Amino acid sequence: MTSSISLSGQTAIVTGASRGIGRAIAIELGQAGAEVVVNYSNSPEKAEEVAKEINSSCGNAYTFKANVSDENDVESLIKAVLERSGKIDILVNNAGITRDGLLMRMKTQDWESVVNLNLTGVFLCTRAVARPMIKQKKGRIINVTSVVGLMGNAGQANYAAAKAGVIGLTRSSAKEFASRSITVNAVAPGFITTDMTKDLNAEPILSAIPLGSFGTPEQVAGTVLFLAADPAASYITGQVLQVDGGMVMA
Ligand code: NAP
Repeated sequence: MTSSISLSGQTAIVTGASRGIGRAIAIELGQAGAEVVVNYSNSPEKAEEVAKEINSSCGNAYTFKANVSDENDVESLIKAVLERSGKIDILVNNAGITRDGLLMRMKTQDWESVVNLNLTGVFLCTRAVARPMIKQKKGRIINVTSVVGLMGNAGQANYAAAKAGVIGLTRSSAKEFASRSITVNAVAPGFITTDMTKDLNAEPILSAIPLGSFGTPEQVAGTVLFLAADPAASYITGQVLQVDGGMVMA
């Protein structure tokens, strides 16, 4: 274990954990001692590698294929985790996609696929873990939104709308679940170097980042780990923590 935060004895689900930010979150939580469910939709080998990395560093992880925008897949995922692990302490809603394009030319399908995964997927997973977490009177839900949900971005109306929706969903569910000691928070990354951003024109973005560099998945993962920590983050709920090098200050 490399982390000073211990999640020993806790079970965490990380959606979209085969690559990028989700991968780093899964490894961070696993190294802190949590049992980690590495969810993926299309990259079984990469997901297996993540689980292997956690298991080889004295952690405990397994993979589960589920398209988290699909209600039946989400129900199967949660049922399988409850059968195997007996409980769910932490849910990290990380899975996300982009289908960029100017609004006037945006295909309805591109709008729908982004909203279905990036927003409805968060709703489906949150709803599915609510019952077991309420029963336990304990839980942490951490949603990965984006600074784009705060500031908007030309060419990303679908993504910005979904990520802004995640912030509303975070605050509403935080209010609904607070009496059961379940916290719900969001992490809003800025520009993080992953597959999602590899084809973007990075230069103009870099000049808008006060800290002068792009972020890493590990920097986002560290913030997620903090929000999962007890007691450090147990009095924080309904908040949006930006991990963006100072890109958006309000
Ligand atoms: P990424 O490298 O493209 O990885 C996306 C992950 O989501 C993959 O593990 C992928 O798994 C999974 N995924 C895609 N569709 C899925 C589905 N239907 N069901 C379950 N999993 C699915 O993206 P990333 O950059 O790490 O982004 C992770 C999150 O951070 C997203 O919510 C994104 O919006 C957010 N974010 C990213 C940045 C950034 O700069 N990178 C900034 C702000 C916010 P498979 O390969 O198995 O499909």
